[in-house]
Amino acid sequence: MKILVINAGSSSLKYQLMDMEDETVIAKGLCERIGIEGSNLQHRPTGKEQVRIEKPMANHTQAIEIVLAALTDPVHGVISSMDEISAVGHRVLHGGEKFAGSFVITPAVMDVIRENIPLGPLHNPANIMGIEACQQVMPNTPMVAVFDTAFHQSMPPKAFMYAIPKDYYTRLHVRKYGFHGTSHRYVAQRTAEFLGQDAKGLRIITCHLGNGCSMAAIVDGKCMDTSMGLTPLEGMVMGTRSGDLDPAVVGFICEQEHMDVQDCMTMLNKKSGLLGISGFSSDMRDILAAVDEGNADAKLALDMFVYRIRKYIGSYAAAMGGVDAVVFTAGIGENNPRIRELCVEGLGFLGIAIDHEKNAQRGGERDISAPGSTVRTLVIPTDEELVIARDTRDLVCG
Ligand code: AMP
Repeated sequence: MKILVINAGSSSLKYQLMDMEDETVIAKGLCERIGIEGSNLQHRPTGKEQVRIEKPMANHTQAIEIVLAALTDPVHGVISSMDEISAVGHRVLHGGEKFAGSFVITPAVMDVIRENIPLGPLHNPANIMGIEACQQVMPNTPMVAVFDTAFHQSMPPKAFMYAIPKDYYTRLHVRKYGFHGTSHRYVAQRTAEFLGQDAKGLRIITCHLGNGCSMAAIVDGKCMDTSMGLTPLEGMVMGTRSGDLDPAVVGFICEQEHMDVQDCMTMLNKKSGLLGISGFSSDMRDILAAVDEGNADAKLALDMFVYRIRKYIGSYAAAMGGVDAVVFTAGIGENNPRIRELCVEGLGFLGIAIDHEKNAQRGGERDISAPGSTVRTLVIPTDEELVIARDTRDLVCG
């Protein structure tokens, strides 16, 4: 059984074709500049040469047509016909409060994704375009929506409510939703499997540190708290997002700078975080290189990034009444031993300590805990596409 996983952005479309017999990737790729001059497809068939196809893509439907042509191409293709694709799984950002799991896409499910556009104004419309494009080109293929917010729906009200007049929750659904849910869910599940323990009884802190960063407190395999909020802006210091701040900062800056709220939100989402503090880059690799050259702003950005993570580890340990495992994942979390080391430095009082040699080694899933530490510190590479493909298979094939 072959499943196509789609992650549609406003002008991009990522895809991965998976063979669910052995859960391997047969081909993956990326369409860029959809609807803009210079549209192109980078197609990577496993075991064959990568190709770049420059072709106009006026919309997502044309992009999908070009992807399917590449997948079935006699030279670069990996399947003989699109009938070999049993189902399509779509990543959808915001499921609001209606979706605590993944769902087969029906007109009613589409209505709810549309209803949630105010909560995900940039992503949900793009996700809808991706779904509609696939439906047009593959009208008889079942499709499944997998929501970034779904895993976090198990949070209790004390964790997801904001202490503002309750009416804003009742009328406008203002609350913490959390994102990267598919990643936190995968990593927590793999952690239990890696440790050879039942998820029940395990208290895990997952640290998804990539371009966007979020953390989650997971008890018995269920999310109890997470750092992102109504939008992905809350929580950690990220590449270009500020994370937590006093909401009065928005009012103050708008008033002092005669800035409108929308511009202020753009500043907090796109010009803040590592980029805002360092003044030159949102990429942790650049920040670390500049720290080594003595750049004081880069050092401040790094210190703030790490300090926020340490604070959250402490607060989640307190919220869960202890912690059994701390897990690092995503671009920074998987690849950078120095950041992992800084994040847990001095947390020995919680039982968290890492072995420097194990931490320095590269590889897949691994335990980097120091001997004798009571909390296991792990690195687990995330695989959101695999979760989407599995959910799609399970829902379509029962
Ligand atoms: P992701 O969002 O998970 O794809 O992560 C992408 C981010 O990971 C990039 O923006 C980089 O900042 C960061 N990254 C990737 N590799 C490394 C590395 N070796 N050291 C530090 N940061 C890294």
